[in-house]
Amino acid sequence: MPWLVRIKSGALQRLGLYLARSCLTPVALFHSEGLLRAILDTAGQSLRDHGIALALFREVKEASVEEAMSLLGAVPSSCKALIGVGGGKALDVAKYTASLAGLPYIAVPTSLSNDGFCSPQASLKLEGQRRSLSTGLPEAVVVDLAVCQRAPRVLWHSGVGDLSSKFTAVSDWKLAFHRRGVPMNDLAALISDASVFQFMANPRSDEQGIRLLATALMLNGIAMEIAGSSRPASGSEHLISHSLEMTGARQRLHGLQTGTAAYLVSSLQGGSHHETIGELFARTGFWESVRKQPFSKEEWKIAVERAPSVKEDFYTILSDREVWPEFARMIAHDTNLVGCFE
Ligand SMILES: [Zn+2]
Repeated sequence: MPWLVRIKSGALQRLGLYLARSCLTPVALFHSEGLLRAILDTAGQSLRDHGIALALFREVKEASVEEAMSLLGAVPSSCKALIGVGGGKALDVAKYTASLAGLPYIAVPTSLSNDGFCSPQASLKLEGQRRSLSTGLPEAVVVDLAVCQRAPRVLWHSGVGDLSSKFTAVSDWKLAFHRRGVPMNDLAALISDASVFQFMANPRSDEQGIRLLATALMLNGIAMEIAGSSRPASGSEHLISHSLEMTGARQRLHGLQTGTAAYLVSSLQGGSHHETIGELFARTGFWESVRKQPFSKEEWKIAVERAPSVKEDFYTILSDREVWPEFARMIAHDTNLVGCFE
């Protein structure tokens, strides 16, 4: 579990201080491709100000095991920690490399587009195929709210979409428990549920809203670690998103895919989640980001039909029924989805 969590404005300027307190020097730093120079300069200055030596500074080019292995070879044995700065891909490579190297990992997300920055998994390609690989959790999570607030709005919408998919993931988990005896972990499910409702108290992209989103996404990662599985954060909506990737659909941000899939899936699961997710997406303007580059109905049809076979032995609402006709009806008639598919 992370022992240091800083979610506040200006946290990036204090990165060196956090490391110095634990004598973590020298360090390696991996960052996203094309990350704003100002962000890297702030991090670098903070490390220098607090006497933290930078033994390796690398840009992550692609989210693959091959990239992680090549970077691992460059990490000096003297390194005391590995820092990942940037978005999902770079952070996943940094987290995986740190796990392989047995080094403490410090996650410094600069946007909140999904829950991967503090989850016990890395989503990386291996020989061209997307895999979810086990890793440790970060030992420290440093989220600078001012930095995240300046990230493109679509990334925030993606984070909102990924968070809302916890509703459907937990419902699928309960279904799998009742129908297949899949073990539940009530605390993990509770943390997952509660984190979404906390964010819904202030679902805005102001400082407080971003703090709640960062906290909620982080707690989802912790819930996965507690449960020892991805069940608290990933259900049928993630199967559809993975299936979109596997079937070669045009790629959109992970959370736009899982969020839209969660909205559709929740209509099958019963209860109030469908209305709750619809309301959340309307309040946050989530659909606007989807409409800017609508999904392909044809690609979704293929992906939804193949989704149940994406993960072996993973029971969800999609396992026992043909759901595409119901989704197609919703896509045609649901006013929220107008302009989201073409
Ligand atoms: Zn996700």
